Amino acid sequence: MLTSTARFPRAALAVLLLGVLIALTGCSSPRQGSAYSTLLRRDPPRALPVPVDGVSPASLVNTWGAIREGGRRHQGIDILAPRGTPVRSTTEGIIETKGMRGLGGLVVTVLGPGGYRHYYAHLEDVAAQAVGEWVHAGEIIGWVGNSGNAAVSATHLHYGIYTPGGQPVNPYPFLRAGALFDFQRVAR
Ligand SMILES: [Zn+2]
Repeated sequence: MLTSTARFPRAALAVLLLGVLIALTGCSSPRQGSAYSTLLRRDPPRALPVPVDGVSPASLVNTWGAIREGGRRHQGIDILAPRGTPVRSTTEGIIETKGMRGLGGLVVTVLGPGGYRHYYAHLEDVAAQAVGEWVHAGEIIGWVGNSGNAAVSATHLHYGIYTPGGQPVNPYPFLRAGALFDFQRVAR
């Protein structure tokens, strides 16, 4: 009798210690870990919705490869929109970086399906998600502005897509093949 009642608190203590250990080693969210590996294994989408509210795929201009100052080639697409227009993640994924990043100004990057990176630049402001947080396709991640080297340009979103190896790919064909977000279904 005495030994069995004495054992119970010891077992409870062991469970508690294990919990503390898991929390301290950062393994407390196995669900996010599996979501991450599922995300990387998933095929990248062939068509993407336009990330800026009120802009139709047909109105996009293919600005890929245009010469920029210093001989740089434009590695993305510029989507013109008024300041403060919502910018939505084209894919599900994980917020990888956010903040001021040189020429891009205020930037958010999302790690999306297949390990492709989606780069949203020149933002006026960013939404509340933390780095490492999961976002759904269509979730607002920021608002159009002209931060960074777009300070003398009309407000627009610079949207870039990069392969897992870091090679830029032209977002234009993906966006032209896409459709507007279904605002009834996406998070506001
Ligand atoms: Zn651009």
